[in-house]
Amino acid sequence: MTMSPLSKITLDGRDFLVKRDDKIDKYLSGNKYRKLYTLLNTPKNRYKTIISYGGMQSNAMLAIAAICKVKGWEFLYYTKPLSKKLHSEIEDNLFHSLSLGMKHTEIEFELYRSFVASLSLSNDEYTLVVDQGGAHRSAKEGLEVLADEIRAQNLEVKSVATPSGTGTTALYLALALPEYKVYTTPCVGDVTYLREQMSALAEIPSNLIILEPQKKYHFAKLYDEFYEIYEKLKSAGIEFDLLYAPAMWMALMSQTEESVLYIHSGGVTGNVSMCERYKRRR
Ligand SMILES: *Cc1c(COP(=O)(O)O)cnc(C)c1O
Repeated sequence: MTMSPLSKITLDGRDFLVKRDDKIDKYLSGNKYRKLYTLLNTPKNRYKTIISYGGMQSNAMLAIAAICKVKGWEFLYYTKPLSKKLHSEIEDNLFHSLSLGMKHTEIEFELYRSFVASLSLSNDEYTLVVDQGGAHRSAKEGLEVLADEIRAQNLEVKSVATPSGTGTTALYLALALPEYKVYTTPCVGDVTYLREQMSALAEIPSNLIILEPQKKYHFAKLYDEFYEIYEKLKSAGIEFDLLYAPAMWMALMSQTEESVLYIHSGGVTGNVSMCERYKRRR
């Protein structure tokens, strides 16, 4: 695997560098590539089946589906029942995952919690359960590889930024890059929740700076200002995801001044279904 390239982007007159982890692979890209690096480098004969669960448009789901396809592993994925809303023909993350061979099962709402809890209990040594969000210590290795790439690119900038869900990516990146400032912002829950998630994995280092969003955003809801900054970035030359990137860019623009290297966290394939939702709303 060669290093992901760098691009420049100008947003409202301010220049940024972007590490193009979105370019790594169509399906296995961004921070899911980094977080699943260890799994990707696991020998084929180690597992027969990978099991996971969560959102029906999850970027992690698609990334795991891509790895299982390459490895020849069976991939079982569980979600709550799909909404009955016109499931159209669009090529969303679920569509791509199914075409990569994922086996999808819907679990009734009432049973979902206990079903998910039971998943890790009943498995043989050739089965791996990947928990939702991938907040796991095994993510460390792939983020050390990213840190090495950033160092090898020998840049003037000494600040990087990447948005957080579980915070796994930002935390391990900050630990692996102590000589850089690492900015992040919570896109799922608030700052307190993000700190809790991170602290469960490791002690939060002082070079990791969590920027507080200016307003309370709910994950996967639609916001005009998110779509606006997405469009601006896109016309400036780079497409970012609509779930995480907008909040990070907004926080960077309002709360930082120095040169920043933005680590593209991928997720662009999820935009088809998000754009569909924004369009329907208009
Ligand atoms: C999963 C994801 C994140 C959040 O990653 P964490 O390690 O859970 O913080 C950010 N951006 C995109 C595009 C993602 O798919």
